[in-house]
Amino acid sequence: MSGPILPDDVDGDSRPAGSPPEIEVTDSHVAQVGGMTVRRALPRRDRRTVGAWCFADHMGPHSVDEEHPIEIGPHPHIGLQTVTWLTSGALLHRDSLGSEQPIRPGQLNLMTAGHGVSHSEESAGRFHGELQGIQLWVAQPEATRHGPPAFEHHDEVPRVDLDGATASVLVGSLGGVTSPARRDTDLLGAELNVRSRTSTALDPAYEHAVVVIEGAVTLRCADESTRDVGPGHLMHLPPGHDELVLDPVGPTRLMLLGGVPFESKILMWWNFVARSHDEVDAATAEWNGGSDRFGDPGSPLGRMRAPDTPW
Ligand code: MN
Repeated sequence: MSGPILPDDVDGDSRPAGSPPEIEVTDSHVAQVGGMTVRRALPRRDRRTVGAWCFADHMGPHSVDEEHPIEIGPHPHIGLQTVTWLTSGALLHRDSLGSEQPIRPGQLNLMTAGHGVSHSEESAGRFHGELQGIQLWVAQPEATRHGPPAFEHHDEVPRVDLDGATASVLVGSLGGVTSPARRDTDLLGAELNVRSRTSTALDPAYEHAVVVIEGAVTLRCADESTRDVGPGHLMHLPPGHDELVLDPVGPTRLMLLGGVPFESKILMWWNFVARSHDEVDAATAEWNGGSDRFGDPGSPLGRMRAPDTPW
């Protein structure tokens, strides 16, 4: 999906009084994107990035039919990668590199924007039924963010059986398997299907986040109380954890995201990840002016117009 990042996305939840717990839980912001309800776990006011992960929209479940198609018209990106992962349904991705790629559960679409790309996301053919998944953005580091755009589709990703869970590794390495997907920083993205108590080894140099898609996990708090965390939240583990123990409340599907804390602060506005207002102003003017910078994904849907910047 596209963003956009608008002011509501930065109205985060206040931290609880007293010292923050080691594992922090924030509420997602509920938004409408392309006719679908999404739970935006990132970015939040108090949590801009987890490693290079800077955007996480849990989309659906949404019932797709002729009257309720997915229609996210052509829009641009700079400085980020989009990672699309479905748990049910189908989508069609088109981009200005000439890609026209349907995606289904278990498959990975990864688009690198670099200096500039545009894409659309649409209902796939005659698909009718439930659509659910997650759209993630990865901030590109200085070394690659001015580079050329690119697109990868992976028909399958590595899977590994953990005790009590099965992991699909989208990006990076987990449980001894490594995804072939491009990554520009030290990063992990995996889906875990958790059946019973499971323990996963973590890289203590990474910070991590858990976003539950279906089901719930029981979180043990510092005061020995417990709470069940389901969809609509982000659990954050700071660096230093070398193990993640998950106690599911019934069958649970969740995303595990991680990475080394990002190299710099980023500026996110609409569909752009940048470092300065000038960069966003330039991208906004060039997109709205029809510049060649962003190409044309050849979608039948109407182009989105970039909103005025708030500064
Ligand atoms: Mn997009």
